[in-house]
Amino acid sequence: MYQAVLADAKFCEQLFDFDRDLAASTRAARCWRCGGALHSGSYARKPRGCPAGLGDAYAERFSFCCAVDGCRKRATPPSLRFLGRHVYLATVVTLISALMFGTTPSRLARLSVVPGLDRRTLARWRVWWRSSFTDSAFAPVARAAMVPPIDITALPVSLLERFAGDVSEQLIALLRFLGPLTGGQSAVRAF
Ligand SMILES: [Zn+2]
Repeated sequence: MYQAVLADAKFCEQLFDFDRDLAASTRAARCWRCGGALHSGSYARKPRGCPAGLGDAYAERFSFCCAVDGCRKRATPPSLRFLGRHVYLATVVTLISALMFGTTPSRLARLSVVPGLDRRTLARWRVWWRSSFTDSAFAPVARAAMVPPIDITALPVSLLERFAGDVSEQLIALLRFLGPLTGGQSAVRAF
């Protein structure tokens, strides 16, 4: 089930549409510091784990810069394609991490859906999920929103399970929930 979603270019395009909407909202809200107009300051990323059939435009991370001299503050909208600084697509970081609960890292590394994934990367992701809910600026917000508390050791499965629908609907809801980790002022610091 997870593997079908990972290989689904149409699903990725759907996330791209969400990102375009989030970018439009960010731009319409103007500069968060001075209220000035925002100009496009998008940049290219080199995401890994993309299914076949996605165009080059998919690697563009939407971002904006304030047009006002002396401010020039950057505003980066949340993204459902990119999860913070992770090189792999957000879908891959989430679903492969979830798959780790049902298999061993060595078996997982042989899965052809994501070539080149090594054990160290998988271990880093596990730490990242945990720290996002314990040590990040987002952690208190995330924990307050989850009643009863989610099992931190079972992330991201325990988080996916909190959302209704099939895997793709749960994934979209999860990525939206994690938006504060990927955009806004925190993203400015992260990049
Ligand atoms: Zn400004």
